[in-house]
Amino acid sequence: MLLYDVGGCEGCSIAVIRALPAIESIAEVYSKYLGNADLERRYDIAVVTGSICINDREAVERLRRIRENCEILIAFGSCAAVGGITRFCRGGQEPRPEHRTYQPISAVVDVDYAVPGCPPAPQAIQTLLMGLIRGITTFLRVFAAVAKAKKLSGFDLLDDVVLSGICVGCGACVLSCPTNALRLIERKPDLVVEKCIRCGTCYVRCPHASRILLMRYPVQIKPLKGG
Ligand code: SF4
Ligand code: SF4
Repeated sequence: MLLYDVGGCEGCSIAVIRALPAIESIAEVYSKYLGNADLERRYDIAVVTGSICINDREAVERLRRIRENCEILIAFGSCAAVGGITRFCRGGQEPRPEHRTYQPISAVVDVDYAVPGCPPAPQAIQTLLMGLIRGITTFLRVFAAVAKAKKLSGFDLLDDVVLSGICVGCGACVLSCPTNALRLIERKPDLVVEKCIRCGTCYVRCPHASRILLMRYPVQIKPLKGG
């Protein structure tokens, strides 16, 4: 398995590294953090973190090479999965002021599974790998659908669930938000818009929203060959 960061705060990479003791019993891990990354060889699974700057040709080419050289590509964390906070980037920052447009990696390459979270829990990568290796693909469908959605935020949750009248006021979205951008008012979530970092976590945590995702993107699950 290759772990590669294309441009973020690297918090998601650290989440994967924290899971290493558990992961290494099921997969051989290659990463710059371990000093053994090699983009020229093939991998069964590549886990990419960070969003892609489409003004950075070298980074885009590296990402395309990773896609060509892996069987299954996982976008891990909100920036890689749905753009996250980097969607707000407008450029002009030193040392690369020309870097102004950051997108989820699915804007450049086909992604098989996308896991939102800022960062996701370290256990998430272990669970995902076990699901792929053992062929337990049921719970992977949501992550396959997120890869097609490309963007998810508290605004989508409000539009699709709360304002459409199917919210049951369970509060799961509120508990999952890393920035306290959601609060329950009269048993319905309300969004503090300036706090939303567009991480998509609330959307996949909401049972109704994740069902909408599955209906909207009825994707085929891609199992790991020989898994
Ligand atoms: Fe993420 Fe919170 Fe915004 Fe939902 S409301 S996308 S959990 S920051
Ligand atoms: Fe409503 Fe979904 Fe949030 Fe529960 S998780 S309060 S159903 S929007």
